[in-house]
Amino acid sequence: MKTFEFIRPADSATAITTAAQAKIAQQGADVRFIAGGTTLLDLMKLNVETPARVLDINRLPLDKIEVTADGGLKIGATVRNSDLANHPTVQRDYAVLSQAILAGASAQLRNMATTAGNLLQRTRCVYFRDTAMPCNKREPGTGCPAITGSNRTLAVLGTSEHCIATNPSDMCVAMAALEATIHVQGPKGSRAIPLADFHLLPGNTPHRETVLDPGDLITHVTLPAPVKGSKQVYLKLRDRASYEFALASAAVVITTSGQNVTRARIALGGVGTKPWRSREAEASLVGQPANGANFRKAAEAAMRDAKPQSQNAFKIELARRCLAHALQTAFTS
Ligand SMILES: Cc1cc2nc3c(=O)[nH]c(=O)nc-3n(C[C@H](O)[C@H](O)[C@H](O)COP(=O)(O)OP(=O)(O)OC[C@H]3O[C@@H](n4cnc5c(N)ncnc54)[C@H](O)[C@@H]3O)c2cc1C
Ligand code: SF4
Repeated sequence: MKTFEFIRPADSATAITTAAQAKIAQQGADVRFIAGGTTLLDLMKLNVETPARVLDINRLPLDKIEVTADGGLKIGATVRNSDLANHPTVQRDYAVLSQAILAGASAQLRNMATTAGNLLQRTRCVYFRDTAMPCNKREPGTGCPAITGSNRTLAVLGTSEHCIATNPSDMCVAMAALEATIHVQGPKGSRAIPLADFHLLPGNTPHRETVLDPGDLITHVTLPAPVKGSKQVYLKLRDRASYEFALASAAVVITTSGQNVTRARIALGGVGTKPWRSREAEASLVGQPANGANFRKAAEAAMRDAKPQSQNAFKIELARRCLAHALQTAFTS
């Protein structure tokens, strides 16, 4: 691991001013925030990340979970994943978020991992994590060996000829279905970014993963007030029962009246280059009777634009079944 300077800024303003000196944001940036360290330190040990200065934000007052005046929820950037998943309001009103977090990593990792760190976790593509290999995301312009190589776990939605890496987060999939907003404080002031606009598609700049600029500090995430009577499920399918990333996952938040679906928010994980909100599946379901045939139709709509690689075509049907099953489970719960 390259040596680096470890700094504990006294307040958010100092943290932002120091981080704003970075030439670029995120990957490859010479100044980085650190929260739980479960992504950043891993990548520093592999020399994938080599920051010169690391700013510890754990002492900043960003660790609260609070109900907002409009009945929503404000989640501080450094709230630990385990605290968020086990919070009584989250378990009662945002069950899909609790389920998604608890489906990820291990208890020890969730005790360290934070809300903002989880939003910014990096892909598990093996070439990205191996500095002996080319990788457009790690070193722009070097190529994407995954396209002709090991791509079984990689994405089928939102890919480009430059990168097919999957976004690995479970938490973000639930947040996509809950229509979360990310709040950022930066050198030019504060801004609020809907989760759907926060992560970027790889296109021809796969090294740019989010809309963050140098110095941008995520301060908190907000969730809208819970939808009365909604049924929520997170279903994750993976190679083994725990401590494994999703091959396919589905977060569903649906409301029904009688036999009909009146509202649906659907997101997929494990198959997209970003947490994948499926408006196609939602449009296909709303107004229709909640039954197996319509759940399957929604799942087919969700995967209509999927583009398989040499080893991951199985994910398309896996994701369809995952979503159809999640909808059925939510409806009958
Ligand atoms: C073995 C293993 C298994 C895992 N399995 C899963 C899994 O199944 N599902 C899953 O979803 N995740 C999984 N994870 C990933 C884990 O959830 C993430 O590593 C974790 O959420 C990152 O949070 P952190 O606080 O430790 O981030 P850090 O490592 O501290 O930071 C990550 C990134 O976020 C930036 N950052 C942190 N806070 C801020 C902020 N406030 N503002 C701006 N930038 C910030 C950092 O600069 C860094 O770039 C796994 C991780 C490991 C190591
Ligand atoms: S899929 Fe993306 S992260 Fe993986 S090797 Fe290709 S460019 Fe790198």
